[in-house]
Amino acid sequence: MVQDYKFTVTEKFLQYVQIDTQSDPESNTSPSTAKQKNLSIILTNQLIQMGAKDVYTDQFGYVYATIPSNTSKKVPTICFCSHIDTAPDCSGTDVKPIVHHNYNGEPIILPDDSSQIITIDQYPYLKNHIGNSIITASGKTLLGADDKSGVAIIMDMANFLLTHPEIIHGTIKILFTPDEEVGAGTAKLDLQRLKADVAYTLDGGEIGTMEDETFSADGVTIIIKGIIAHPGNGKGKLVNAIKIISEIINTLPKHEKSPETTEKREGFIHPIDIQGLAEEASAKFLIRDFETENLLVLENLLKQIATDVVRKYPGAEMEFIVTEQYRNMKEVLQHHPHIVAYAEEAYKRIGLNVVKEPIRGGTDGSRLSFMGLLCPNLFTGMQAIHSKHEWIGVKDMEKAVEMLVTLVQVWEEKSV
Ligand SMILES: [Zn+2]
Repeated sequence: MVQDYKFTVTEKFLQYVQIDTQSDPESNTSPSTAKQKNLSIILTNQLIQMGAKDVYTDQFGYVYATIPSNTSKKVPTICFCSHIDTAPDCSGTDVKPIVHHNYNGEPIILPDDSSQIITIDQYPYLKNHIGNSIITASGKTLLGADDKSGVAIIMDMANFLLTHPEIIHGTIKILFTPDEEVGAGTAKLDLQRLKADVAYTLDGGEIGTMEDETFSADGVTIIIKGIIAHPGNGKGKLVNAIKIISEIINTLPKHEKSPETTEKREGFIHPIDIQGLAEEASAKFLIRDFETENLLVLENLLKQIATDVVRKYPGAEMEFIVTEQYRNMKEVLQHHPHIVAYAEEAYKRIGLNVVKEPIRGGTDGSRLSFMGLLCPNLFTGMQAIHSKHEWIGVKDMEKAVEMLVTLVQVWEEKSV
């Protein structure tokens, strides 16, 4: 099907990663950094040039576009979505991508910082790419494969479909979002404008992987009010909030229910922030589990620990605040199993083994799924993300383009 096609995914990827789109968790603006829009504008222009319809970018940096249906069947409208920003963890300024043609399996010393060495020992998945091309950064920055590989794959799919009208498909929507890495990727999303029935994010790792299950997530804030007195005559009066908060943290389970000691499907309580003075102190926690009802179990445990500690300090007061963060997308996806099944079928048709693993985290897809737009996550090939070692294999990106072209055809075939 794509035998004679000259993929454009690599040339597009190399262009996009050189545009600094790092997002900023401290910012209050949308997008969090204005520079993200530089990429939005390029994508908008390229989509118009390719012949996509309804191409639109808004003041927040979102890019919307449509590839019109060319079938008489009633096919649900599918959206493909990737984020344009890169993680705040590592510089994204002056990214210099390097294509290592015919990779030979030897350690790769990155030229701008020779202490940055990418080896098969550290990344066994490199073995899959011996004899093929891989792309790395130059040692001073991340690469930005997360998620510009997804962006480039979707753009190449658009290019393929718009130059191959013989491939039959329903209406396809393209969506690029800012600020995913700072948890605001769907904050200003206009679902009315998008008008999609289902969506897939292209924001996953190894070839063949598919993610339809994420953590369910709450946040907890505990605020302790102590009683302040001059320490010189504090005897019998002073109640120190810092000591209470510290004791609560210290009483948390040490050998279970923490990120340091759990894996696979186990949930946890994770303290992430302490602020305080003797008079008043607070701590923030992440609560995570694959079963939403287990969040309550973990929260009750935390509350019990905190209550027992506070009781030892007469006069102290506690506030315990729970905020919902996101929910396991499986809870909604399981009622519409064909969305995942069609993607599995597309993987198999192009010869891939499907690897489904729950994500110990959340995705924009978890938020979208609960906004009513069901949204599993598909592979792009990205590896060692958010780091100077970040790399990706060209073959994986090309296979992802082929997978998307196949997936739109599966949806058309299964519709009436
Ligand atoms: Zn990502």
